[in-house]
Amino acid sequence: MEDCLFCKIIAGEIPSAKVYEDDFVFAFKDISPIAPVHYLFVPKTHICCAKKITADNSVQVAKIFEAISKIAADEKIDSFRVINNCGEDAGQSVMHLHFHLLAGKQMGWGEQSLG
Ligand code: AMP
Ligand code: ZN
Repeated sequence: MEDCLFCKIIAGEIPSAKVYEDDFVFAFKDISPIAPVHYLFVPKTHICCAKKITADNSVQVAKIFEAISKIAADEKIDSFRVINNCGEDAGQSVMHLHFHLLAGKQMGWGEQSLG
């Protein structure tokens, strides 16, 4: 999709620190990490947000969670948190579906706990 930051990262038009790629999934380091491990997992096709996940495209979400499981095992990450922000009020700033993988620190629970 034109003018989508993450589509441009997937296409290699904007550089990123890639951590994983397969036919469905692209994953890279968040540019402003809030934990020692902070990766973003995105579907290779443009889906704006979790509101647009349907039976036709949900395989891409399943593939993302398979990739998260694989990366966690490869990097010996025992505890982790996966976050999806959907919509402005939830803090979504890039309108291409993505899941944050956070690890490497003690994490509290609550609205402000991740800063
Ligand atoms: P969200 O706020 O949930 O939409 O998450 C968007 C994330 O994208 C933020 O954590 C940003 O730090 C991250 N981000 C923005 N631009 C880039 C970039 N060029 N490379 C890597 N991560 C980015
Ligand atoms: Zn996109």
